[in-house]
Amino acid sequence: MSHPVLVVGSVALDSVETPFGRADDALGGSGTYFSASASHHTRVQLVGVVGSDYPVDQLQVLASRGVDLAGVERAEGESFRWRGRYRHDLNTAETLETRLGVFSHFRPKIPAQFRRAKYVFLGNIDPRLQLDVLDQVEKPALVGCDTMNFWIESRRPDLLALLKRVDLITLNDAEARQLTEEANLVKAARWILAHGPRTVIIKKGEHGAFMFHADRVFFAPAYPLESVFDPTGAGDSFAGGFMGYLAQTDDLSEANMRRAVVMGSVMGSFVVEGFSVKRLLEITPNDIAARMAEFHRLVTFDATVA
Ligand code: AMP
Repeated sequence: MSHPVLVVGSVALDSVETPFGRADDALGGSGTYFSASASHHTRVQLVGVVGSDYPVDQLQVLASRGVDLAGVERAEGESFRWRGRYRHDLNTAETLETRLGVFSHFRPKIPAQFRRAKYVFLGNIDPRLQLDVLDQVEKPALVGCDTMNFWIESRRPDLLALLKRVDLITLNDAEARQLTEEANLVKAARWILAHGPRTVIIKKGEHGAFMFHADRVFFAPAYPLESVFDPTGAGDSFAGGFMGYLAQTDDLSEANMRRAVVMGSVMGSFVVEGFSVKRLLEITPNDIAARMAEFHRLVTFDATVA
């Protein structure tokens, strides 16, 4: 049976510069990208805050895709704004400015109808807010979280407290190294596993993603795209595809979690083809199925050794 997925995350206005162009005050944020991606798989319950300057009518595109916005609060003040730049290495975002705005006084209030969510994702925001959300939900079957360098530097103790309370974490290779102070990713994954989560997903941008459990590892490549316009949101769209697919299928077996990792890669591969959430709003179930099949062709080989 398909379940909704509850997500808390930033609902932002992003200004992004890439070698191919720029966008100013575009729809962004971890909660926004996650929701747009997961909405292709299941219903989404979004929790976040926007300021009085937010073009809320633009969020209606999410509502029309089955994202319940009852948990998106509108507060007096400026919206969260992120300004970033990518140079020729499209795997690394350079943060030029982070303005927390209304996020600095935000206390998430999970609407009563969201509290029994079976699948919960704590998108990249202040770990104190991620912990706050966990205190308000009743026994989810799977809690995943994400984070980034900004929070690893400024909120390490809270992040370590959060790790003890989640089942799964997604982070990129640089974040894994920064969090664990281990240069080797296998050792970094072991360090994280020893601090709480039973599943650790380490994403390596255009080089794919690893899923680590205590006794096994799975690897999925990234789709070899010829044109990447804007990598912003790839991580959150990966998480949306991964969690959305798990909530849709309600199956946490190893085989299904592997499929979910590939679904994460599929969704990440779409979002980077355009600025902001544009591509996530255009693609169809057929596009997703076709790219899933492409992934299968990409990694299938005959392991018989002559
Ligand atoms: P990613 O999926 O990793 O590319 O995440 C991109 C999104 O993260 C952007 O849309 C930003 O608005 C958002 N973001 C950047 N910095 C932060 C932060 N410190 N807290 C929450 N969200 C952020």
